[in-house]
Amino acid sequence: MKQNFAIIGLGRFGGSICRTLAAAGQEVLAVDMNEDQVNEYMNVATHAVVANAQDEGVLRSLGIRNFDTVIIAIGEDIQASILVTLMVKEMGVPRILAKAQNENHARVLEKIGADRVVHPERDMGVRIAHHLISKNIMDYLELSDQYSIAEVNVTNPKFFNQSLLDLNFRQRFSLNVIGIRRKSDLIVSPLATEIVKENDSLLVIGETNDVEALDDQMSK
Ligand code: ADP
Repeated sequence: MKQNFAIIGLGRFGGSICRTLAAAGQEVLAVDMNEDQVNEYMNVATHAVVANAQDEGVLRSLGIRNFDTVIIAIGEDIQASILVTLMVKEMGVPRILAKAQNENHARVLEKIGADRVVHPERDMGVRIAHHLISKNIMDYLELSDQYSIAEVNVTNPKFFNQSLLDLNFRQRFSLNVIGIRRKSDLIVSPLATEIVKENDSLLVIGETNDVEALDDQMSK
């Protein structure tokens, strides 16, 4: 389904979101106060506009209130990021994603109503650290402070050739298996009768501490 997105700030983060959404065929309005940045996205976004988003009149004339999702990807200027987030929220935009520079900035953005706050350097650091610590965790995505999705390699023979039901997986680990990767195949939403094999990896969703407990079990 086609949605419309407005991206404010076309640095590395906003720019990469813009390219990805446009390539996926979505409607994208790209806004930056720097003309050079805007020129770079002229042929990428549906519309690219040079404007200072801190000006409420500018946001109104761009019709920001009519967008399904607004992404505030202003980098260094924390004050601008907060002010723009606040104004976009007051306009009643249903989904606001904002980029934070640090923990305090993230707290403020959450308080004033950003639906999702991302802190790309920190989030990527957490993800890479999980890869480094564990031999079993192939990939890791933090969904919130409490929940994550992880891809865990099946390395413990106790799991081999048993169905998810035999393993009593959900009760035992308090995790849902949303996929099983087997060589180049991905079994999406596996049935409880699906047999887990050596070298499979399980895509699980649940509380981060339960993901860590599963990882520990794999190493036993
Ligand atoms: P990144 O880490 O994503 O590269 P940057 O700080 O380099 O972040 O990029 C942020 C972008 O946001 C810059 O291109 C900058 O011109 C733009 N920007 C900053 N303040 C405003 C504003 N008030 N209105 C519009 N664009 C802004």
